[in-house]
Amino acid sequence: MLAEIQQSLHDKALAFRKTNTHDAKTYDELKKAVENGFAVSYWCGNADCEAKIKEETRATMRCIPLEQEGGSGSCVYCGRPATARAIFARAY
Ligand SMILES: [Zn+2]
Repeated sequence: MLAEIQQSLHDKALAFRKTNTHDAKTYDELKKAVENGFAVSYWCGNADCEAKIKEETRATMRCIPLEQEGGSGSCVYCGRPATARAIFARAY
């Protein structure tokens, strides 16, 4: 019983995350995405970028998804090369 409830909560959370998670390739897209959900963006790994994003958008880094796509891109904040994507969201 408990396991079923937990599974159902988990499924809901997952579905919620899916519909509210937006790929944000630019900082503008990130700012828009965190207004009503999660932003997934490349991040260079620099704590300064994370701090600035938090300061300017009130969004904090939630996690770095384990299932990385293996690609690379530019840090959403500073534009430097980045190989990991992180999830940003505002705290409520
Ligand atoms: Zn950066």
